[in-house]
Amino acid sequence: MPQVVETASFRSDDVDCLVAASLACPSCLSGEVDWRLGMTPWDGWVDCRCTRCGHERRVYLAPDQALRLSLHEARPLDPVPHPGIGDVPL
Ligand SMILES: [Zn+2]
Repeated sequence: MPQVVETASFRSDDVDCLVAASLACPSCLSGEVDWRLGMTPWDGWVDCRCTRCGHERRVYLAPDQALRLSLHEARPLDPVPHPGIGDVPL
């Protein structure tokens, strides 16, 4: 089976629930995922492990995405949507 490289799908200014959803387990769709940020001067990634089914994967990050997740090492992501907060006015 070919190796697949996954890249994160959130924007650095997305609300927490969208960032959390992008890290959700692709196998069982659980949002209960433990993640650990990894960085070198050239690459950023997050290692994710689903606490429900045990699925593990590495997701590569752009520099601004790595910065965003580094902020959540002290303040956990809030996976609950809060309609109206963080919405972009039309
Ligand atoms: Zn899972």
